[in-house]
Amino acid sequence: MGRITLDKVTKKFGDVEVIPPLDLTINDGEFVVFVGPSGCGKSTLLRLIAGLEDVTDGEIRIDGKPATDLPPAKRGLAMVFQSYALYPHMSVRKNIAFPMKMAGMPEDEQKRRIENAARALNLTDYLDRRPGQLSGGQRQRVAIGRAIVREPAAFLFDEPLSNLDAALRVGMRMEISELHKKLDTTMIYVTHDQVEAMTMADKIVVLRAGNIEQVGSPLELYRNPRNTFVAGFIGSPK
Ligand code: ADP
Ligand code: MG
Repeated sequence: MGRITLDKVTKKFGDVEVIPPLDLTINDGEFVVFVGPSGCGKSTLLRLIAGLEDVTDGEIRIDGKPATDLPPAKRGLAMVFQSYALYPHMSVRKNIAFPMKMAGMPEDEQKRRIENAARALNLTDYLDRRPGQLSGGQRQRVAIGRAIVREPAAFLFDEPLSNLDAALRVGMRMEISELHKKLDTTMIYVTHDQVEAMTMADKIVVLRAGNIEQVGSPLELYRNPRNTFVAGFIGSPK
């Protein structure tokens, strides 16, 4: 579970083609990073996969099934928003439970999933606190917990660490990588930060103006950048 295929996916806003026809395969369990400068289309591409934007043309398949016309809730994916999207008046437990409650899931199943997520994220002792009583890193973990309980085929992250300070960002990077190992689920992670891309990814997708410049492992891109844009972005010597 968690194989995502894009077949000539295109996005226009009005007359402006932000994503020209783009092909990409994301394999089951892969940690894929979309990297590129601000405005290159990373968020748009992620939102197309999530179903938060409609494609102008092309097809998206998730685990072999057509997903292009499915609403976000039916795609089996979970978007992780930045921690400031938490409800300040609700406990951690209620914040994590919220999507399940909305979906009308039985209480005992909600409880099981909350406990699993809390264990995976080391939040067990914090379930009765409110977001305001947590550190920035703990708040970000709660935001991830809200995605975990949906047991998605893939997690989608859009610059989740950009509002954390530099030291915390390093720690959270390691925590998300660790979580990827624990859950063994596909993760798509958007960043404009080369270090995040190089340290977290199984596969990096380098974007420029909506085009894929190169796809490869961090080492492949470092050793064999296809052009000076990739080399410059990845920081390799070419
Ligand atoms: P990134 O996440 O890489 O910074 P985005 O995907 O947010 O880039 O944006 C890519 C391009 O699409 C930018 O030129 C941006 O201005 C444009 N864009 C994004 N969303 C919209 C929208 N809803 N309407 C019009 N243009 C948009
Ligand atoms: Mg963006």
